[in-house]
Amino acid sequence: MHIFVAGGAGYIGSCTTEYLLNQGHEVTVFDALLNGHRSAVDKRAHFIQGNLEKLDVIEEAVKSAKPDGIIHFAAFIEVGESMKNPLKYFRNNVANAINLCQAAADNNVRKVVFSSTAAVYGIPEYFPISEHEPTKPINPYGDSKLMVEKILDWQCRQSNGRLKYTALRYFNAAGATAEHGEDHHPETHLIPLVLKAAAGEWPSITVFGRNYDTPDKTCIRDYVHVLDLAQAHLLALESDFCGSLNLGTGNGHSVQEVIDSVKRVTGRNFTVDEGERRAGDPDRLVADSSEARRILGWKPQFEDLDAIVESAWKWKLAHPNGYED
Ligand code: UDP
Repeated sequence: MHIFVAGGAGYIGSCTTEYLLNQGHEVTVFDALLNGHRSAVDKRAHFIQGNLEKLDVIEEAVKSAKPDGIIHFAAFIEVGESMKNPLKYFRNNVANAINLCQAAADNNVRKVVFSSTAAVYGIPEYFPISEHEPTKPINPYGDSKLMVEKILDWQCRQSNGRLKYTALRYFNAAGATAEHGEDHHPETHLIPLVLKAAAGEWPSITVFGRNYDTPDKTCIRDYVHVLDLAQAHLLALESDFCGSLNLGTGNGHSVQEVIDSVKRVTGRNFTVDEGERRAGDPDRLVADSSEARRILGWKPQFEDLDAIVESAWKWKLAHPNGYED
């Protein structure tokens, strides 16, 4: 297949591009390089630098690539920033996604796979979280992703199923591949921040709250390896399924367990500070991914937190300053 990857210079996009190329597919990466890195674009991929905000630019890019499928990763991802600047999120994550949907329809693309998020559930009532849980996002980031899911759903219906889509609701993406890893500026995610503390780049890691309703009182998340996410994208492209699927391992790990795992894997000690709760953090987010396993035949390979942390640590040791650009 020829796959058009919007946002292929970002974390999950670059890892998925590497995976698709390793599986023998052709890839065109389209990325504005606002947050992504040019050096994260796999050398075997075609690269188009462009912004989704211009319909003619994305139309031309899709027309020239003639892809069999599109994966849409290009979005802003910071919950806190989305609370401060909702329009920035709706403009980029929703309005620009409409341009990509338009280009997909105009060029008879068969399948769109969309990067969605567990943030569409807001504060869920039942655990583990299945796709039947009501979607009630509590921040503009989660809402912007849900809006695009709905747009794709209507587009699929309007096309009488000619254009198919799968929205993949990731829980906490983590880890690294052989070549690619996580390098956000600023970094806000737990595992890369704890690794910075272990590497001595940061003086300490701050635990955001020890008063949650969990056994050790710190928040529980479902950390899923980026290569397992990559595999799910390819399975989704190959499938005719239209709808939304959760991607997580089903194993929850607390903030304290992540810190303990990093200490074990790296063999390094570092200071742990106590902080206030971060606004909008639910106690526990753990996926029921039985639908992705059943419908796509998805089988995550990394069920063990230490293995996930170890892959991220290896990448960090090989790239002490992250990407060059
Ligand atoms: N967290 C923390 N300290 C940090 C960064 C994150 O205690 O410096 C906590 C955060 O409150 C959440 C968990 O780690 O409970 C995972 O946060 P992350 O930002 O990695 O992912 P999120 O679950 O927000 O998507």
